[in-house]
Amino acid sequence: QFPVISIDGPTASGKGTVAHRVAKQLGFHYLDSGALYRLTALSAIRHGIDLWEEQQIADLARVLPCRFEKGHVFLAGDDVTDAVRQEAIGVAASKIAVLPLVRKALVELQVSFRQAPGLVADGRDMGTVIFPDAIQKVFLTASVEARANRRYKQLIEKGFPANMEDLVKDLAERDARDMARTEAPLKPAPGAFLLDTSHITANEAVHQILSLYAS
Ligand code: C5P
Repeated sequence: QFPVISIDGPTASGKGTVAHRVAKQLGFHYLDSGALYRLTALSAIRHGIDLWEEQQIADLARVLPCRFEKGHVFLAGDDVTDAVRQEAIGVAASKIAVLPLVRKALVELQVSFRQAPGLVADGRDMGTVIFPDAIQKVFLTASVEARANRRYKQLIEKGFPANMEDLVKDLAERDARDMARTEAPLKPAPGAFLLDTSHITANEAVHQILSLYAS
């Protein structure tokens, strides 16, 4: 089996940037599992399916027509790179992520990213459920304020509307949903390296993870 580094943590903890850079440095593949939940939510919305219709959404997820290419994400051939990053889609993703059949339907797709020479997998349950045999497990945390600040900058950069107060509320709600769900709740995997990114840069986090992996 090819080695996996799992990087889990709450929303906007810096996982995406850090995981992507670690993958690049090692020449590993990169799995943004949150994007799969976002794509599934977007697909459900586009099909006019209510976000609690577990079986119907699981059926969509099992054959999700997605493609990742040069930093772009496609759904059924449409470039949805910006659409999936919208806060409303993040919230919708966290709603469908509580549905056990939907989580199950996405397992195979996530595991298929494990290819030579290795994989950096970013999400909530990479080290606990999807890749329990990951060679290096990391759990990134950061204060709600630091995370809301980061998300605010990301949204403004993309020209999306953003409001700090709403973001703090969204993040707190999403954290609560991710941690409270019975299926794959957000928590550090046993043996995970806990890294608080509130006061360090993404590159410092990358450096720490790479030194850990090398040791
Ligand atoms: O990481 P990101 O914010 O893109 O993920 C969107 C939502 O998908 C999260 O709020 C979470 O509820 C869900 N998710 C999950 N398990 C993962 C990745 C994401 O439940 N492995």
